[in-house]
Parts: sequence; structure tokens; C-alpha cells
Amino acid sequence: MGHPRVDAIAQEAREAVAAARSSADLEQARVRFLGRQGVLTQLLRSLGTLAPEERRLVGAAANEAKRMLEALLEERLAEALESERRAQRTRARLDLTLPGRRPARGVLHPLTRVHDEIVAIFAGLGFSVVDGPEVETDYYNFEALNIPRDHPARDMQDTLYLTESTLLRTHTSPVQIRTMLAQKPPVRIIVPGRVFRRDVADASHSPMFHQVEGLAVDRNVTMADLKGTLGLFAREMFGPESRIRFRPSFFPFTEPSAEVDVLCFVCHGQGCRLCKQGGWLEILGSGMVHPQVLKNVGYDPEEVTGWAFGMGIERIAMLKYGIDDLRLFFDNDLRFLRQFA
Ligand SMILES: [Zn+2]
Repeated sequence: MGHPRVDAIAQEAREAVAAARSSADLEQARVRFLGRQGVLTQLLRSLGTLAPEERRLVGAAANEAKRMLEALLEERLAEALESERRAQRTRARLDLTLPGRRPARGVLHPLTRVHDEIVAIFAGLGFSVVDGPEVETDYYNFEALNIPRDHPARDMQDTLYLTESTLLRTHTSPVQIRTMLAQKPPVRIIVPGRVFRRDVADASHSPMFHQVEGLAVDRNVTMADLKGTLGLFAREMFGPESRIRFRPSFFPFTEPSAEVDVLCFVCHGQGCRLCKQGGWLEILGSGMVHPQVLKNVGYDPEEVTGWAFGMGIERIAMLKYGIDDLRLFFDNDLRFLRQFA
């Protein structure tokens, strides 16, 4: 049971509470209606001036409106205080003096860095970069490289065959064949790429790794050119003090063949852990292109000669950065990779 005059005040009070945006706003509304000078307080105080019947009606309605308003204010105040405390806690966590958050920036994978470095060195010497298929035929991977079907050299590489005659290339050398078949001498190329072996991954083996191969074919190309080129490569890659040495070796596609060592850049030949006390580090295989390989691509070995070399990018990266486990390159552990920033 209301009273028009009281109802109007109660409505006004509800609107003021609804419009309040903070505990301070609510306190203002409370003072305005329930404070000592408040609208409702004044009304209740003036009841004595009213006629008895009117006094009873207004008094009852005003008391009810007061209880309603008190309850409403209490509820809304509790909500307002809670949300203000929450905002306060959030503000306390924000330290505006902290420097801004930097966007995450990737770094080049160590293999990419070494790959790029090798390519840049040989590109500077006039070699062009050539690419080739990773799925090869037996012919390009073995036969044309003077490794016939019954050749013991095939045991040197455990091959991942896809079919009887197709396989995942075991080296980048088939690209040499493809290039020579497609163009006449002179040839000066490097061939970076992935190669595959039937190996179980451990600290020094991986079923997939990267090679860079180089090939130069022209009139009067000699072993001395090869030595000069690789010596320059070593100085660019491992520092101006670098020296290399050739050791006789065997590969079916080169004759003569040589393993190439670089003077250990940690101990400078004194012997240390990296070079296993030998003073030298093996970095690649090389040699003069076998005359039969030249014949296989239609070149005349009486007219042109060539040399080739091949190195593992992982091997070079491990030496350069002192990495002792091949698997680190492929685990993609950011703690490892970020060291190359
Ligand atoms: Zn050493």
C-alpha cells in the first residue's frame, strides 16, 4: 500500500541508485534520501503536521520506502565495493614503469646460417647454386657416378629405396650429373641440399642431413685449382689463419681422391678435445672427376677435366659452433636455437 507522494520519492530514489557507478555515487544517493536532511527523513519528520488519517497512510508508506531503499543500497554497495577492490588489485599488478614487451623475434637455424655462409663464399668465387630432386633414380644416384650395381661402394651407403629403381638420394652428386647432361663445359656449380641414409639417429648419425657439393669442369682444371679453392674456403669459413691438408682417399666418382682436413682452429694443431688430439679436423671429401663420369655425361675427358668436393653442413656447423650432438639440430629446442641469435 503506497501513497502517491511517497511513491514518487521511492521511484526517484530507485533511479538514483540504478544510475550510481561507484560506492561514492551510492553514498551520495543515500545522503540525498536517507541522510539527516534527506528527502525521506524530512518527510517522516513532517508527519506531525499532517491530519491523523493522512499521517497514518504517509507514515506507513514512507517507512516501507525507507526499508526498501536501505536494503537496495546495502546490496548495491556490497557489489560496488567488491568490484572496486578487484580493480584495485589489478592496478597493483600493473607496473607502468616496466619496459614494453618486445615482439618475439626468430633467429636463423645454425644449419641455415652455415648453409648461407658456404653458399656466399662460393657464389663470391663465381659458382652458381643448383638444385635437384630428392627422389632420384638408381641411375643418377649411383650408375652415372661410376657406382655400378655390383660395386662394393654401394655398401658404403645404406640407401633408402622407394622402389626397385627409385630412392632417396644418398648424396647431392646426382645433381652434378643432371647439370653436366644439360650443359656444356665450363661448369662451376655448388649444390646444397638434403640427403638421406638408412641410419639410426644418434650423436653422430641422422637419417637425413645436408650436403653442399661443388663441381668445376673446364679445360685445364687441375688439382692445384681444387686445393687453392678449398684453402680459400677454409680461410673464409674458419678464419684467416686456417690451413688445409689433403690425405689420399677413395671415391668411385673421383680419381685421384682426397679427404681434406682443416688445421684445428681451437688448438692450432697442438691437439685438443675437438680434434681428438690430432691437430686436424676432417671437413670434406674431394677429388678429380673420374674420366668415366665425364664420359657418362658426354664430355670428352681428353678435352676437359674437373674436380668435385662434398661436405656435410651439419659437420661444418658442429665444428664451427662446438656442437657435439647431431640431434640438437633437429630437436628444435628453442633453448638451443636461441643461442644463435
Ligand atoms: Zn684441436
